[in-house]
Amino acid sequence: MKSNFFSLKNKVTIVTGGAQGIGKVVSSFLADAGSDIVIFDMNDASNVACEISKDFGVRAKAYQCDVTNPDNVSQCIESAAQEMGTLDFLFNNAGICQHKDAMLCTPHEWKKVIDVNLNGVFFVAQAFSRYLISNKKNGNIVNTASMSGTIVNTPQCQASYNASKSAVVHLTKSLAVELASKGIRVNSISPGYIKTEMTGTVRQSWQDFWVESIPFKRMGTPEELAGAVIYLLSDASSYTSGIDLIIDGCFTIV
Ligand code: NAD
Repeated sequence: MKSNFFSLKNKVTIVTGGAQGIGKVVSSFLADAGSDIVIFDMNDASNVACEISKDFGVRAKAYQCDVTNPDNVSQCIESAAQEMGTLDFLFNNAGICQHKDAMLCTPHEWKKVIDVNLNGVFFVAQAFSRYLISNKKNGNIVNTASMSGTIVNTPQCQASYNASKSAVVHLTKSLAVELASKGIRVNSISPGYIKTEMTGTVRQSWQDFWVESIPFKRMGTPEELAGAVIYLLSDASSYTSGIDLIIDGCFTIV
């Protein structure tokens, strides 16, 4: 096998939602695979960028960016391209979850989840792809969907989240086809229950129920998603676009 098959050396990867959780951990693995890192998060991630730069000897920068604001996203893409010299990959990962009965969900609550999880993913993918196309560059995108885009989780009610993630899976396929001729591959990962700030604060009885229902009998870790993201961004997956890779300890197949 070619030794540089999975290498991200001399590449620059944008990671949205990289201030904590999956984005933060996966950023460090991408850096370990050689990539410079640009974090877009609505919260300040400059400490995370500093740590990554120190630990892996790559360049790392953080931009405060609200993915639901297309103007803010375009400005950040432009600034990052200027500062880093180039942009190659996007791990489009920022997202939020809301546990609310559908019958009690207000229009504002519904729109908020769709705005971050679907509109935000689209705005960043669009601005990033426009940058690649106007600079005649190839590049790859990995969107973070969820197993909730394929199944309906219980006991919690989260119709807005489930609908938004299902849409991310189909958006991924749609962009993959539209952008194939431009040399841009677009795939998604669909994590199962992963231990992060997002899931760690959920009531213990639900977490116990989830663990009991997962054939692996445990939640996954953000580290266990990193290999899939590296694979889908790297040349190792050069004939792969439009797929959704479910990583869930067998949860969705039983
Ligand atoms: P998290 O809450 O720990 O981190 C999410 C990050 O996204 C935070 O840093 C937050 O500041 C950022 N963010 C939120 N809204 C934003 C916005 N408008 N603009 C920019 N940044 C914003 O969550 P996580 O568990 O790391 O989840 C990351 C992604 O993985 C999400 O898309 C989530 O839906 C998905 N996911 C998580 C799990 C899980 O079990 N943790 C399972 C499946 C999918």
